[in-house]
Amino acid sequence: MYDIVILGSGPGGYVAAIRAAQLGLKVACVDKSSIGGTCLNIGCIPSKSLLDSSLKHHQLLNEFDSHGIQAREVNLDLSIMMQRKEEVVSQLTAGVEALFKSNKVEFIKGIGKLVSNSQVEIQNDDAKEVLETKNIIIATGSSPIQLNNIKLSTHVVDSEGALKFEEVPKTLVIIGAGVIGLELGSVWARLGSEVVILEAQDDFLPMLDKRISRQVLKEFQNQGLDIRLGSNVLEAEEDQEGIKVTYSDGDKETSLHTEKIILAVGRKPNLDNLFDDTLLNLNNQGFIDVNEFCQTSIDNIWAIGDVVRGPMLAHKASEEGVMVTERIADNDVRLNYDHVPNVIYTHPEVAWVGLNESKLKEQNIDFKSGSFPFLASGRALASGESVGSVFITADNETDKILGIQVFGPSAAEILQQGLIAMDQGVTSEDFGKTIFSHPTVSEALHEATLAMNNKAIHIQNRKKKT
Ligand code: NAD
Repeated sequence: MYDIVILGSGPGGYVAAIRAAQLGLKVACVDKSSIGGTCLNIGCIPSKSLLDSSLKHHQLLNEFDSHGIQAREVNLDLSIMMQRKEEVVSQLTAGVEALFKSNKVEFIKGIGKLVSNSQVEIQNDDAKEVLETKNIIIATGSSPIQLNNIKLSTHVVDSEGALKFEEVPKTLVIIGAGVIGLELGSVWARLGSEVVILEAQDDFLPMLDKRISRQVLKEFQNQGLDIRLGSNVLEAEEDQEGIKVTYSDGDKETSLHTEKIILAVGRKPNLDNLFDDTLLNLNNQGFIDVNEFCQTSIDNIWAIGDVVRGPMLAHKASEEGVMVTERIADNDVRLNYDHVPNVIYTHPEVAWVGLNESKLKEQNIDFKSGSFPFLASGRALASGESVGSVFITADNETDKILGIQVFGPSAAEILQQGLIAMDQGVTSEDFGKTIFSHPTVSEALHEATLAMNNKAIHIQNRKKKT
């Protein structure tokens, strides 16, 4: 009898398994494919590998000369770039395998299915076995949403296929200007593709404040991404030149010829054949219904990550995995879902946490705000990375930080510093007293916080009302 059987070995499942073992629980982690799930094998990690490689290529071609570095001949060997990506993936998945061994987590390869609240059936080829367990954690992740009228083919790929092109496509249409569309669009545009991104919504990155999303859109357009908002894709037809995609933007229909299409229109939870319909409740969006502790309608069945409500993010899944295993071990661990950070790993990066200004207004929260442009940061200028700004808000009454949005160099790392302060309930006044190293790009967060209290040193503060 196991204490916990976990279905799925992505960042939700494998982290839950390791923590369970650390807590002295007998745990098995089941996966039908390699350890590490989407994130390690076909998502976050390989995409970051290609983002970093393609950025180096782009910078060598376009940016190094401004530093006085000229390269006479720049050659791109895509096969080496792809091989490097595979090696990074192998190294990390081998690392998780080693952690499983050293923590005594049992990894079982096979397709898992819940038979009851205490039994999980595992099918591996023709062999079947049933595991008896006190708790089950469902961490089976998500898969790309497909469009009914545009089927996957040699010309049409999803986010997984887009990390495996053997040649740089001359022309590329991406459907969806969300996180995946922007990251993959950046990779292939930097390597030389002409990229058009078709986005159905009129608003670009609506979770950001307008001031910041406008900056982001302008910069991506400068980088050559042809982002067409309000463009609802209708169909795609293969022809001799490649594929023709038709979209409607308002009253008119437009067609484009392209070599490849990437579908990046969102992801859906992996729940097929996992349990009988009567066993667990789903919410009205088709995710497993859970309470704030990721507990389903059955007390000893838990669900975490992309199969439940909330953002589909690896770190959110991991922390839910930790929370659930700690709770199974009777430790009162809970998560602050208002403090989940989000990052788009473009260059510059976009990172945000907490409520944006329109949400704060909607909720009638009395808040103050401050911002600081990287153009006024000595370090950003020195490294030629001065696009973007930091925006920060705090509660006028308590002075606690409510939200941070960063577009600029190392945005993800800068955001994290502010998030630690938010998590600890530090006031903006106290955060402003923290000593930041000079010169660093993090000083922009410091200055934005000071600006919120009219104390910025390196930009003009707002005029005080008389
Ligand atoms: P998304 O929801 O972020 O964006 C999909 C976009 O496609 C939306 O803006 C939507 O309006 C648009 N769209 C949908 N149908 C369309 C149509 N017919 N024509 C034109 N546009 C259409 O989804 P995603 O980018 O596929 O990412 C999926 C999930 O994976 C997200 O939850 C994301 O947060 C997560 N993810 C996160 C990271 C990261 O943290 N860096 C990286 C990759 C994926």
